[in-house]
Amino acid sequence: MSTPVHPTRIVRKMTVTKICDYTPQIRELFISCTEPKDFEFRAGQFVMLHVPTGEAKPALRAYSIASTDQQRDGFRLVFKAVEGGIASRYVWGLKEGAVLDFTGPFGRVFFKEPPTPQVVFLNTGSGVSQHFSFIESNLRKHPELRYRLLFGVRHQSDIYYESELQRLKAELPNFEYQYVLSRADDSWKGLRGYVQNHIDAFDYKSIDTTFYLCGNGAMIKDVKAKLSAEGFDMTRVLAEAFD
Ligand SMILES: Cc1cc2nc3c(=O)[nH]c(=O)nc-3n(C[C@H](O)[C@H](O)[C@H](O)COP(=O)(O)OP(=O)(O)OC[C@H]3O[C@@H](n4cnc5c(N)ncnc54)[C@H](O)[C@@H]3O)c2cc1C
Repeated sequence: MSTPVHPTRIVRKMTVTKICDYTPQIRELFISCTEPKDFEFRAGQFVMLHVPTGEAKPALRAYSIASTDQQRDGFRLVFKAVEGGIASRYVWGLKEGAVLDFTGPFGRVFFKEPPTPQVVFLNTGSGVSQHFSFIESNLRKHPELRYRLLFGVRHQSDIYYESELQRLKAELPNFEYQYVLSRADDSWKGLRGYVQNHIDAFDYKSIDTTFYLCGNGAMIKDVKAKLSAEGFDMTRVLAEAFD
């Protein structure tokens, strides 16, 4: 009798049904299961994209799922272009209808239950994807929580996902988000610098809080160092670094 293949080892064929280019560096793919027909994951997890290399083995790259885990026939992925990157070149060459190979789901960063009254998401670049999935997947279960999200990008022209965040805000009475720009020009009226410079505003010393960090490793390191030095309960800090 043959040993059953673990579900995460099955190479899944999935079809790109829609492509959204938000900025020249940010592309979202809407992906639908082709074979097998369904795909189960938990919010916070990622998939491995198999990038053809022209050689026997593909290059494998991780991408966090950006959509609700209640959907069982597909998901959304947000890509940030890396100059000269193998997967970046492949993804930016795709057209709607392309069939991609994936394995997964992988990852152990999950939404912590029971949640604290305040949940803070800090992300940079395409790290918003994991957080968007957490919020979309939990908004009906935990609509009462105080959700706060800081989204770090460089310039005004790098801002994306505003309509998606507005949609969440319309559904959640206590959800606030702000972009933090590290290289804004003089016309920018919002927050400046790095996301880690703005966390004191969340009053996490008096409100029970869980932090979710995703994206740039340096941001994650800085936030963890600050919270740890303050004696914060580090089991309430959940992080996924993309680099
Ligand atoms: C758990 C996990 C989840 C991830 N989720 C996402 C996601 O949702 N969206 C997303 O866009 N990326 C995500 N990443 C990063 C992604 O897996 C790739 O590393 C990224 O897309 C670059 O791949 P590439 O093949 O284009 O570049 P490569 O060919 O691997 O690298 C090209 C060059 O760029 C450098 N480089 C690689 N990655 C980065 C980076 N992030 N920033 C700056 N320089 C880099 C390399 O050192 C190399 O010099 C995730 C990574 C992890 C570990």
